[in-house]
Amino acid sequence: MADRKKVVLLGATGSIGDSALKVIREHSDSLKLVGVAANGNWEKLAAISKEFECPKACLHSDEAWKKAKDENAFGSACDVLSGVAGLSELAEMNEVDIVLVAVVGTQGLQPALKALKAGKRLAIASKEIMVLAGQFVIEAANENGSQIIPVDSEHNALFQCLEGVKPEHIEKLILTASGGSFRDTPFSEMKNVTLEQALQHPNWNMGPKITIDSATMANKGLEMIEARWLFGVEPSQVDVVIHLQSIVHSMVQCRDGSFLTQMSTPDMTFAIQHALLYPERKQGVTSSLDFSEAMSLDFKPVDLRKYPCLTLARNAMEACGIAPGVYNAANEVAVQAFVEGRISFLEIARVIEKTLESVDNVEPTSLDAVLEYDLLARNLANAFAEGKTA
Ligand code: MG
Repeated sequence: MADRKKVVLLGATGSIGDSALKVIREHSDSLKLVGVAANGNWEKLAAISKEFECPKACLHSDEAWKKAKDENAFGSACDVLSGVAGLSELAEMNEVDIVLVAVVGTQGLQPALKALKAGKRLAIASKEIMVLAGQFVIEAANENGSQIIPVDSEHNALFQCLEGVKPEHIEKLILTASGGSFRDTPFSEMKNVTLEQALQHPNWNMGPKITIDSATMANKGLEMIEARWLFGVEPSQVDVVIHLQSIVHSMVQCRDGSFLTQMSTPDMTFAIQHALLYPERKQGVTSSLDFSEAMSLDFKPVDLRKYPCLTLARNAMEACGIAPGVYNAANEVAVQAFVEGRISFLEIARVIEKTLESVDNVEPTSLDAVLEYDLLARNLANAFAEGKTA
């Protein structure tokens, strides 16, 4: 089994991590996990590291790292690193072929760039990487001949659809959106919705942040920005349509009016397996569509009045510079404030809007500058969420 692809998984304890481990477990003849990382869940990470006999692991949180060391949780066969430096060390290990980045927030930025500079395949699940630093990431991939395969279901679908399509033949990339928890809630009732209601996603079973982002469609906003960078299209070529069943994962509209789609049941293992095994295809780990049963696919246009976050994202994408990063940072802060009951659901968009309005847009010249503006935006958004005018 010498030709197994060696995989590093950053974000092993989250929901993408769970799905990735399912795929790696099932395809152990093709894939070998050699490094895992998590933020703070050291007990779960230690169990994963032992199961897959990983020689290296990393805990982003220093406190968790110390605790794991004290308990000797990983045993002596595993070298346990910490912090962003540890994540980066995993990402550029010599023997590694694929780095799957599924960590929350901006932690994944540096390791992703290191992986690309070291010529690894980057399987990218963390949206922040393309949203904050799309230009840097694409440059690093091009300069080093490294491959980026998106793991986000929509972008993975587009990647699959675009194989064999000439860039000049693309009219539009159309991201499908479930519409989230409030897709059937009338606009007039949106001001009273609760956290509990926001956490009920109609199709996907995901973490709380992305489920709220799906309800506001801030997530689809981030995905428009991701798509723009990943596939090198103009902002005007990225569009969104509501698709109730989450079976069509996105579409390419060609110049001649043909639409190419990728379909599967809504389960992240499909995109993850594609990104890890590409260009190989093997039996999936989850059962997919069954056309012996009747099935409908419904599409409808997005009511932008109901989803102001989507318009804010489009404006940020068109403005470019640091605006997409500010949008992302403000959204994260606002969602946290909503989860903690400090602001209402509709105020999420207002916090993002105010934050975008109060930062002068510039073109960031380095990753450090990107991270500085990220911090600035977070501080401003926090002040807005607290009802202060900063
Ligand atoms: Mg998605």
